[in-house]
Amino acid sequence: MSHAKGLIFLGPPGSGKGTQAQLLSEQLTIPHISTGEMLREAITKKTKLGKRVQYYVNKGELVPDELLLNLIRERLNQDDVQSGWILDGFPRNVSQATFLDKLLLELGKFSEQAINLEVSDNQLVKRLLLRGREDDNEETIRRRLEVYREKTKPVIDYYQQQCRLTSVDGTPPLERVTASLKEVITT
Ligand code: ADP
Repeated sequence: MSHAKGLIFLGPPGSGKGTQAQLLSEQLTIPHISTGEMLREAITKKTKLGKRVQYYVNKGELVPDELLLNLIRERLNQDDVQSGWILDGFPRNVSQATFLDKLLLELGKFSEQAINLEVSDNQLVKRLLLRGREDDNEETIRRRLEVYREKTKPVIDYYQQQCRLTSVDGTPPLERVTASLKEVITT
């Protein structure tokens, strides 16, 4: 059985992982799965899920795991992901990471690589304020960075301990970061 490539993009808010994930998904022709985008779309469309998650997203808090787990399970069962995928925004805590491991084992056909985009805190705040998305005001940004440190940093340690993590400097200009990412992605 051939193994499709699954890429897990990790990094703080503002590290550029969404932009890089989108670019690479086009260049590698594999879907970009962004949980943040999926949630924002649900909010805009006022779906049942959207109504349940709006409160958390707008405050910069994590949405309860149970809602995300279903979303990811359904997404990774769709036809278009069968030759690979880039996950952006998931897993965001260790319980999501262990869930993903179990799910991928169950699906049985993916080999994954976790990539961590590193950017200093100062740069992050600057970038996020410039971006100006609806949930990008100073208070939410500060909260998202806190949540990242508390909940998502341990995910990086989780992959590191299992020697499944590659780190890339996210500070250089966009195209240079894309080039570095391509160098470290193993087939
Ligand atoms: P950023 O790149 O700034 O981290 P995202 O688009 O990835 O933003 O996520 C925006 C918001 O969506 C988060 O602040 C959080 O409320 C929610 N969210 C996204 N992914 C998850 C997840 N895996 N678990 C819980 N909440 C999530």
